[in-house]
Amino acid sequence: MAYDILLVGMVFLCLLVVVSARPDTRAWLPALPPALDRLLRLSATWEYWIVGASLGLVALRFVIGPRDDRAPASTRGRMTSGIVDISGITREQPDALERLQTRFAAVAHRADAPAVDLVEDIILAAALVGASDVHMEPKQNALRVSFRIDGVMRDVATFPKAIESRLLNRIRVISRLDITRIDAPQDGRVEEDIRGQQMNLRVSVFPTHFGAKAVIRLLDSGSYRVPQLDEFGFQPKILEQFRRILHMPQGLILFTGPTGSGKTTLMYAGLEEIVHKEETRRNIITLEDPIERSLEAVNQTQVDAKRGLTFVSGLRTALRQDPDVIMVGEIRDPETAQIALQAGQTGHLILTTLHTNSAASAFGRLVDMGIPPFLLASAITAVISMRLVRRLCPHCRVQKTPPTALLEHVQLSVDASTTFYDAVGCTECNRTGYLGRMLVTELLTMDEEVASAVLRNGSAGDVMRVAQGRGMFSLLEDGMTKVRNGDTSLVELLRVVQ
Ligand SMILES: [Zn+2]
Repeated sequence: MAYDILLVGMVFLCLLVVVSARPDTRAWLPALPPALDRLLRLSATWEYWIVGASLGLVALRFVIGPRDDRAPASTRGRMTSGIVDISGITREQPDALERLQTRFAAVAHRADAPAVDLVEDIILAAALVGASDVHMEPKQNALRVSFRIDGVMRDVATFPKAIESRLLNRIRVISRLDITRIDAPQDGRVEEDIRGQQMNLRVSVFPTHFGAKAVIRLLDSGSYRVPQLDEFGFQPKILEQFRRILHMPQGLILFTGPTGSGKTTLMYAGLEEIVHKEETRRNIITLEDPIERSLEAVNQTQVDAKRGLTFVSGLRTALRQDPDVIMVGEIRDPETAQIALQAGQTGHLILTTLHTNSAASAFGRLVDMGIPPFLLASAITAVISMRLVRRLCPHCRVQKTPPTALLEHVQLSVDASTTFYDAVGCTECNRTGYLGRMLVTELLTMDEEVASAVLRNGSAGDVMRVAQGRGMFSLLEDGMTKVRNGDTSLVELLRVVQ
């Protein structure tokens, strides 16, 4: 922008000089000081040069194309190949991570490596292997880079300490953070074209004892696809119940579980199911923070408190947009809860999340927020609590009965027919013993008996007991069917469910 103003100013000045220097137009001008007058007459012979140079500048401006003042030109659409060779690696290769580790190891000793290239290499490599996050952790004598893949942190490379501040600075520049505030926690979000690939990144920088730690989340990098409902590993009967609730015209479905338990992905899959499996089109609106993946046929809105768009104000506005289905990223306050519950009673299907450990404890949590139990009992159609467990690698899992102490701990009576499997590790699974993940769920559906337990202001234990009496599987019970099927190990299940 500043460049354009300068350019227009220069062209205007040049034309003024040319016009005022010509003898025929010279006469219109007032008398000038002799020195200036001489200068103008002299420049008359330059007029064609000046006009030519101005036009040349204008032409050059169009050749260079539009500039973005916020980012250095070097970050926009660069097509260089970087310094780490990541060509030929795809996420489908079973040893993709090992290949990356080798390629990074080849340059990891170089303290002089260009930070611009290296940061791009790291982000592109993370996208290649389907990582959800990049972690850059400063250690006493080194900088460690790891990726989170399938929910588990995997080391990728270790760089010399000397390169650390340059890499961190580069990350701050890319994500438009303040590079002068190196000891302050900062976060930013950016859509960046990295070597022709559109990347949607959320960056958080946090000071630690040995320097600033950066975490880059790869949102909607294009290598992802929203899984279909039957790919989550639901038991057939639970999937059928879940589908029935999703296709109801109204009600509120609560998705609960800790951060990273797959709540958003399951809500996305639910919305995709509504879009693709229903004959009549429903108007779907989402309020998210952040929008993690873009969905077709869904109106997605990013919540932004700085612009006054909160979950509460967004929900009020969304309700005036004639919606059929609204996904609300999270219920954080009583007001959002109240509006969402009322909307769920008045002809809208609401999908939202709440941070609780079990399905049954969601009611107590909302009562603590000041929501009357009758509203919960009448508006909530289901609460689904979930955890993600890693799937055992089918290529290397082995049959192995867990220690008796462990079985006693989870109060399992095991008959001779029960087969357990355990993780080993092979090249297919990057020596982890696990390949991919699946959901362990607890689906509580509202019926008269559960509703009366909620209306009694029932404790989580009370609601749980009634729901289990109505046929609900607890997280542990659902997980155990997966353990018995050999889909996961008992150790893995207890890691996430206990
Ligand atoms: Zn394996």
